[in-house]
Amino acid sequence: MQEHATITLLANCGVLIRRGNVRILVDGLYSDRNHPFSLVPPALKNSLMAGEKPIGEINYVMFTHGHPDHFGIRATSQFLAANKVRGLLMPTDNSEPWMANRTRMMREWLDEHPQPVHYLDLPQGAAQNLKLEPGVEVTVFNSGHQGAHLKHNSNYVLLLRLDGINILITGDAYYSPTMFGRMLEGTPVDAMLINPLFFQQPKGVQVVNEVVKPRILVLYHLPFADNDKFGTRRMADRQAERHSREAYEIHVLRESLQTVDVPKTLGRILR
Ligand SMILES: [Zn+2]
Repeated sequence: MQEHATITLLANCGVLIRRGNVRILVDGLYSDRNHPFSLVPPALKNSLMAGEKPIGEINYVMFTHGHPDHFGIRATSQFLAANKVRGLLMPTDNSEPWMANRTRMMREWLDEHPQPVHYLDLPQGAAQNLKLEPGVEVTVFNSGHQGAHLKHNSNYVLLLRLDGINILITGDAYYSPTMFGRMLEGTPVDAMLINPLFFQQPKGVQVVNEVVKPRILVLYHLPFADNDKFGTRRMADRQAERHSREAYEIHVLRESLQTVDVPKTLGRILR
């Protein structure tokens, strides 16, 4: 096994996690409408759908939650019809009629096109551990969603345990230090992915600095430059600057195919 994992941005929250021969796509098959976020560039999306380079074959497809900027029924069903995966983590969410409807539609498709699916159906605050294959485990934790009007929606924080490298993917998680502490129970985190709204909150900073204490912090869920209506990229850059003296290294995922390396051991060479 190689001594590192990599995190590669497709667009928005869509990331490819690679560890040896295991390739996991998280939030990479999302809707192309009903949200203001950037889409996977067409050429890259075509190669993703075809299982071709530079993305290549995907072994596991996972989602943090069912919002259209993270998950799309059409993109997911098209992908699964054309590509064979070893596992699919599919959140369910019946907290509101429109989310329940999305859950039901995807489930109907999956009933007709059987897949190795693990439905995620936990109350907020609950966790579940899934052993997917030797060296590949994921703990899922329903943290609830950020934002007062969305807090009833599910959001599954994914703790990927990949043969000695732990990667924590938060999606649009609510930033509760107590919940994150309970979920991790002291598990060391090599890399943590958060969005800038998480990091803008004092509680979010507390989760990162005092609870998770990752070696590498990755800011994601940014629009591309041509679509940055709310100055989110600048916000992320300012956050990276503000926290540049923390113990972790910070990366801002800005561009398609940008890759962050996550080495296995603590002993990094000082630059
Ligand atoms: Zn969301």
